[in-house]
Amino acid sequence: TTFEGDDSGDIQPRQTPGIFYSKAIPSPVKTPTLLAWSDDLANELKIKKPDSQQAIDILGGNRLAASMFPYAARYGGHQFGNWAGQLGDGRAITLGEWESDGKSWELQLKGAGPTAYSRRADGRAVLRSSVREYLMSEAMFYLGVPTTRALSLVSTGEQIARDMFYNGNPQFEPGAIVMRVAPSFLRFGNFEIFASKNEISNLKKLSEWTIAKHFPHIAGDNKIVDWLKEVVERTASMVVEWLRVGFVHGVMNTDNMSILGLTIDYGPFSFLDNYDPDFTPNTTDLPGRRYAYGKQASVAYWNLGCLANAIAPLVDDTGKLVETIESFEDIFWLKYYAMMGNKLGLDRVNEIDVNLVDGFEKVLAEIQPDMTLFYQLLSNIPADFKNREEVMTHFEDSFYSEPDKNATDHLFDLMNTYTIRLKENKCTRDESRKKMQTSNPRFILRNYLLHEAIEGLEKGDSTLFSKLQQAISEPYSSLHDEFLSKRPDWASQKPGSSMLSCSS
Ligand code: AMP
Ligand code: MG
Ligand code: MG
Repeated sequence: TTFEGDDSGDIQPRQTPGIFYSKAIPSPVKTPTLLAWSDDLANELKIKKPDSQQAIDILGGNRLAASMFPYAARYGGHQFGNWAGQLGDGRAITLGEWESDGKSWELQLKGAGPTAYSRRADGRAVLRSSVREYLMSEAMFYLGVPTTRALSLVSTGEQIARDMFYNGNPQFEPGAIVMRVAPSFLRFGNFEIFASKNEISNLKKLSEWTIAKHFPHIAGDNKIVDWLKEVVERTASMVVEWLRVGFVHGVMNTDNMSILGLTIDYGPFSFLDNYDPDFTPNTTDLPGRRYAYGKQASVAYWNLGCLANAIAPLVDDTGKLVETIESFEDIFWLKYYAMMGNKLGLDRVNEIDVNLVDGFEKVLAEIQPDMTLFYQLLSNIPADFKNREEVMTHFEDSFYSEPDKNATDHLFDLMNTYTIRLKENKCTRDESRKKMQTSNPRFILRNYLLHEAIEGLEKGDSTLFSKLQQAISEPYSSLHDEFLSKRPDWASQKPGSSMLSCSS
């Protein structure tokens, strides 16, 4: 398959009808300096850690290897529920594909300069957002959540103007470039753009290629529908995993939905500190809260609908597409309750356990304890506690504010029901605890920690950054209990340590 592209290298922002990509040579930066390197990922890819400036120059976009063909992909997307037209890789440049152990990986620089799709922006990324993507995508990997990954973090030695103004002057922040890695960065939006412009032969070509390359087990007359089924399945799994660890993506636009069901485009994301289903970390998402924690499944469903719409011209019986999209609900809930059963240490999820899970959700939303601490404490709840005081004391460390009388009653009742249910487990308490330990992270990369690590790096102090890099790789262990505490009070107030804006 050959994909039509614009090979001129022209990076003038423009509409590019009829093509899949536009060549974009990374714009050189002043002094590319390696700040971080993912050894585990490098080992998996069999890529040697750069030991020369020449090698680092590649990671900073200052040099291309002979086999590289740098390009930006064309895609569109629904942003906040509205069709936004052509978007494309405005600040990401794919250098090529890397093969290792029979797997192929797309290597992409984020922040390497303008492309034909940069629209009015600069094609750059600041250190702050790059550190966030670098650490968080790797953190998600070690948590066991499907995700794109990050191999390197390079500072550019340049200052970048960002859209925060003080006294009428733009603010400058240090620039950085992340090399991110995934089997593919294709998004729903890559398919949507062709459908929206009625480029049906391009749509067909990309879809068939995607199936052959990334879903090779799918073949036959129903392959488009079967493919959508698998995207539905993978997307449901991804969201269930987000809910398990308390992750809020923050910008679930269809251009940020991976066709492989990977978490992609780390922007104004956050973990939940206090359990608030309405929490959105994205200041641009207010007041609607479209992308709040508790709405992520329904947004995923809506986004899958957009994808189904886009590929509809490739299918004779579009009723099958509708059916497939509608199967999302059952698939999601099945996976969701199985996941919650593990979080609660149940041996299996019976029909009646659905009430228990729902009970947990209600009480958590009412009390809003720290989600991570709460589940850690839950695994040690005494089987025979004496009274409500004992229960309240047990969970005390997870509370951001003292629960009122009603909430106290609800938690006490829930714990009674829960401990009775635990006794019905056919497995041992130890086995049940094991389940809980592998489902409930003990270390999460909280926004305020990222914020402090970035402030350190900007002053040349990488102590916290290095600690976090280690901690993300062992999120279920107690080795990093120095971070096992609630978000401090100051962090809920300070800009950037709790909520963030869309693009930086
Ligand atoms: P996002 O909200 O991060 O998904 O970005 C939406 C669109 O804006 C994508 O097409 C991005 O490539 C583009 N974009 C975001 N930031 C920049 C930037 N600094 N320079 C160029 N394009 C950008
Ligand atoms: Mg994006
Ligand atoms: Mg982005």
